[in-house]
Amino acid sequence: MAANLSFQFQYSKTSRGKCKTCGDVIEQGEIKVGRETKSRFHDGIEVQWNHLECIENKYNFKSTPLSTMKGWEKLRWDDILHIKTIVEDDVPIATDKIEKIKKKNERFWKAKDKLSEVQAKLLRELLTENGIIYGEKIDNEILYDAAADMLEFGVMEECPQCHERKLENHIINIVCRGNMTEFVKCDYKQMILIQLKDIKQV
Ligand SMILES: [Zn+2]
Ligand SMILES: [Zn+2]
Repeated sequence: MAANLSFQFQYSKTSRGKCKTCGDVIEQGEIKVGRETKSRFHDGIEVQWNHLECIENKYNFKSTPLSTMKGWEKLRWDDILHIKTIVEDDVPIATDKIEKIKKKNERFWKAKDKLSEVQAKLLRELLTENGIIYGEKIDNEILYDAAADMLEFGVMEECPQCHERKLENHIINIVCRGNMTEFVKCDYKQMILIQLKDIKQV
């Protein structure tokens, strides 16, 4: 189990959470880094959130391979570049693809920023109409990401593994949010840049 523990990234959705290291508030919109630890209470993992500056010199953060970390692919471009300079960067981006991936990232964020004014309920309906069906319990963030992806890049094809339409475009890879069964999540992941959809001409 321990080998799978890594770190994850998110922008803080509120200014209510506190940093595990310094104890101060993590402001809304600020990057937070989750350190995954084995739960003392149940089988799964627990995530302890920290400011990036507070955790960057702690634990094994800097020597952890980027490919094992979650969520960084969906951060804003400058933040992705910043993180790549801090940790063990085993996900190099070919020079000739950087411009393309940067543009893709910027389009995703422009769409996502615009959508922030739309109610999650409406987005769920819009996604459902396009065959992307998420249950009520899903984190709203996933709905906003999926809607931004769909509006900018079109409806994703079905996942080859679980056959749900829940492939998520993570800028430099594609992951699946679908389920194999009621209890088992689909773990499909594709790291191949070339297979990303081409950017539509505006
Ligand atoms: Zn802190
Ligand atoms: Zn899948």
